[in-house]
Amino acid sequence: MEEDKPFLFPFPSIREGQREFMEDVKQAVEGGNILAAHAPTGIGKTVAVLVPALQYAVQNDKTVFFLTSKRSQHKIAIDTLRLIKERAKLNFVVVDIISKQSMCPRAKAGSIYREFYSLFSEFCRSEQKNRRCRYFVNRDEEAQQRIRKEIMHVEELYDWCSFRGVCPYKAALEVGESADVLVCDYNYLFSSDIAETVLEKIGKGLEDVIVIVDEAHNLPDRIRNNLSSELRMSTITEAAHGLRHTNREIYGNLMELERIFAKLAMVARKSKKEEMNVDRDFLVGEMEKVLRRRIVAMSYGDFVNSLRNTAERFGGSETAKNTKYKDEALQRNILNIADFLDEWRTGEKCLRIFSVSQHNENPFLHFKLLDPSIVSEPVFAGAHSTIMMSGTLCPAEMYAEILGASSDRIKGKEIVLREYNSPFPEENRLIVVTKGLTTKYTKRGEEMYSKIAGKIAEVVEYVQGGMAVFFPSYALQRDIAAYLPEEVRRKAIVERREMRKEEKNRLYEQLREDSGGILLAVQGGSFSEGMDFESNMLKAIIVVGLPLSPPTLEVKTVIGYYRGEFGAEKGKLYGYLYPAITKVLQAAGRGIRSEHDRCIIILMDYRFAQFPYKNCFPADYHVALTDRAEEFAKSFFKYRNAKL
Ligand code: SF4
Repeated sequence: MEEDKPFLFPFPSIREGQREFMEDVKQAVEGGNILAAHAPTGIGKTVAVLVPALQYAVQNDKTVFFLTSKRSQHKIAIDTLRLIKERAKLNFVVVDIISKQSMCPRAKAGSIYREFYSLFSEFCRSEQKNRRCRYFVNRDEEAQQRIRKEIMHVEELYDWCSFRGVCPYKAALEVGESADVLVCDYNYLFSSDIAETVLEKIGKGLEDVIVIVDEAHNLPDRIRNNLSSELRMSTITEAAHGLRHTNREIYGNLMELERIFAKLAMVARKSKKEEMNVDRDFLVGEMEKVLRRRIVAMSYGDFVNSLRNTAERFGGSETAKNTKYKDEALQRNILNIADFLDEWRTGEKCLRIFSVSQHNENPFLHFKLLDPSIVSEPVFAGAHSTIMMSGTLCPAEMYAEILGASSDRIKGKEIVLREYNSPFPEENRLIVVTKGLTTKYTKRGEEMYSKIAGKIAEVVEYVQGGMAVFFPSYALQRDIAAYLPEEVRRKAIVERREMRKEEKNRLYEQLREDSGGILLAVQGGSFSEGMDFESNMLKAIIVVGLPLSPPTLEVKTVIGYYRGEFGAEKGKLYGYLYPAITKVLQAAGRGIRSEHDRCIIILMDYRFAQFPYKNCFPADYHVALTDRAEEFAKSFFKYRNAKL
């Protein structure tokens, strides 16, 4: 094996599947094509994608954009690149970069500048223009030389630049001009205003860029969420009252906006609806109408600007700590309204929904981009080549289609779809589907909850080590956990909706230290997706039910949109089924992180063994259907002991 390793590959041998993936990446990069790859955990994706991409970039004066949304992935990419550099003794430049706000030494964590990009952006722009930011004014060749020479984690780069008194973001982008690899967030290419600025600053065109999208299953939602916002009626009311005695003009305008919300609530109530579609032009038109009639007549855009100007006057200092709490809350509310109204005007196709509860409590308006390909397709079409990869990019065809990477939309590039098998020994993973249990809406109730809890308790008895149970929602977690026997509940470590990141980290530590702990968490939550579990930490995973979204107007609108784009069958699969299955696969995948891990996965819903759900699983997902999951657990752990 050793002799046919690529020159840059830093490890002694190449794993099964890894060579195939590396070869596909090489071909995609050399051919200027697009590869969408479902590459399960264990293939060693990061090194396998970086080696051929880097080699091509160095030889052909291209820049690799390694895009990831997770800090832990930044770290893995940087460590891998350090290893490549060390072993190959090759000189190349890498810059690790996060958002400008997070890299600004003047916008401390927790400050309002971290929260509102528009406010921070204006602050930074004015500080630069008036040369008031000493970090920006200061130039330091030595600081840049070190960034160019060493491969630094972004935290090290931040500390180093802050110590030298230079702006970390500016320094990173200046070195970015000569970088072979930039490790950064999706937004660096998939947010058009950021991408334009960044590419201009580093002096590159999109055609010079090799795009690597890590955890690419997150990309459609990330793009859609970037162009989305929500405005609650209470935010308008509070902001209006806060300005009542100091700014009568804006107070009056906000009261008019509140009246428009009240009108929408009345229409919804009359038609006995809790949700209804709202046209873009309705809100803009109604606001324009009332703004024209005011003593100081203004346009919709002027109103947005006047809100921003008012909010900025509350700051007046670098951080929020000098501002009284009351002012800060008011400032937040005004900025929320300004950002919402500004983005609402977008001409892109969005779902726009007004929601009001039966009791008319705090109605709200929200919008979200419907089609992520509006943003991603031009990037794929313009970039030199693109690799999308994930352990759950399944089916790869769906992700390619909804992101606009299809041959009928992108000409002159080959679109290659690949699904690789898990390289781990098959006998280390047992997947079982239970008969007779479900969280199907029509079957829910005390009897079903008690049966599910009973089955969980039976399985727990045989599990030797830590385990996790992932529920479709916090409500079902609570309802089913109530039926768990006392001895199981005593071992339970429970994730709650309101928990902050630090509290979740503490839960993780608790689970790590307690080898018999049982994590009760939700599918789609931070434990099932964001958290990287240590190898061999979870010996059993129970996925309770299918996390299908309730049939809200948003879900129906998305399905309808995909139906229009891809036909009736795919519309439902893309808008409804696959997102749920991705959550299941993410949760189920927490147990096996290395080739030595063994884990039993119990899918506790009979629908997993039925059409169409069973067809949504990857090809190497072999499931056994049983009503005796506990017996499977018993023999799985007995076999393990026999092997030890
Ligand atoms: S220029 Fe100044 S305000 Fe702007 S990001 Fe840099 S340090 Fe922060």
